[in-house]
Amino acid sequence: MIIKKSELNAVLDKLLAGYQVYAPVKEGNYAVFKQIANGGQAYLGYSNSKIPPKGILFPQSEKLYSYSVTAEGARVEEHIDGSKKVVFGIRPCDAKSITLLDFVFNNDKYTDPYYMTRRNNTVLVGLGCNQPAPTCFCTSMQSGPFASEGMDVMLVDIGEGYVAQALTDKGKELLAGLGLPEASADDQKAAEDVKAAAVVSCQVNTEGLKAKLDAGFDDPVWNRIYEKCLGCAACTYLCPTCHCFDIVDDAVDCNGCRVRNWDACMFPLFTLHGSGHNPRPSGKERWRQRVMHKFKYFVDNFNATACVGCGRCIKNCPVNLDIREVLADILGSEARLDK
Ligand code: SF4
Ligand code: SF4
Repeated sequence: MIIKKSELNAVLDKLLAGYQVYAPVKEGNYAVFKQIANGGQAYLGYSNSKIPPKGILFPQSEKLYSYSVTAEGARVEEHIDGSKKVVFGIRPCDAKSITLLDFVFNNDKYTDPYYMTRRNNTVLVGLGCNQPAPTCFCTSMQSGPFASEGMDVMLVDIGEGYVAQALTDKGKELLAGLGLPEASADDQKAAEDVKAAAVVSCQVNTEGLKAKLDAGFDDPVWNRIYEKCLGCAACTYLCPTCHCFDIVDDAVDCNGCRVRNWDACMFPLFTLHGSGHNPRPSGKERWRQRVMHKFKYFVDNFNATACVGCGRCIKNCPVNLDIREVLADILGSEARLDK
């Protein structure tokens, strides 16, 4: 099928009749995913959003349930969000990141009803990357500029319009409701040409990385990697795969609510015990945890790497600590860190 760019706003308006629609919206020099009120707000000319769209399914701050205790007894009210949503224009790396979050929130030990209710009611409409950014290294992380993992529909920008392909039943249902025309043979050819022309220039060598980490908990490399880190956690908050959270009660007496907030392993308080002991007392242990979690523990647990190569941590670190160079350093090419 084809969505002409001149008709994109009308298509999004049509979706708005049945779904909450989230799309990239331009804010200053960057794009962020927001719930839109009309099709004209969507901005698909973006490279990658400043903040990943993971917050649509796993909000930065989320009220799980409210409770109150009165003379009549206790009352608990769960806050499960079952609204139908479309995330329109999600990039391949971010769509893949959601498949990784699925491992965490829906596995043989635990199913998170808050995340999974949203997930099951959300359709992901992906947008391939015609021009990957210089900081993208998705092809080194089992993804790519036109990888479709996690998407229900894939869009390919061919200039005048978007060739749309349904990849799942959810995607078929969504497209069927839009009454779109079929893509012509020329449109399909243009989409194939666009895919073939997309180049990810940055490659990151991960050969032997897991074995190195398996044996490398006490490797001297950890003594230097973290040295210029400020502990601001921008890298973790902006990472589409990071998913650590804290749960707090916001209550007066016995009345209040239980709230889940994003947390980050780069913060000293993350592992501070009530006794005052902190098993990760410095940036050394915190950086080691960040790398180990993404490239060893997640692989051990789910047979997948918890990095999709989106480049956000590279673009947004205030001291230019580059995870590509960190991985190279772990693998033994220290020269990259000294350049
Ligand atoms: S963004 Fe940079 S400075 Fe901030 S915690 Fe991450 S590595 Fe450290
Ligand atoms: S670690 Fe960095 S490059 Fe990898 S997914 Fe997270 S933000 Fe993106």
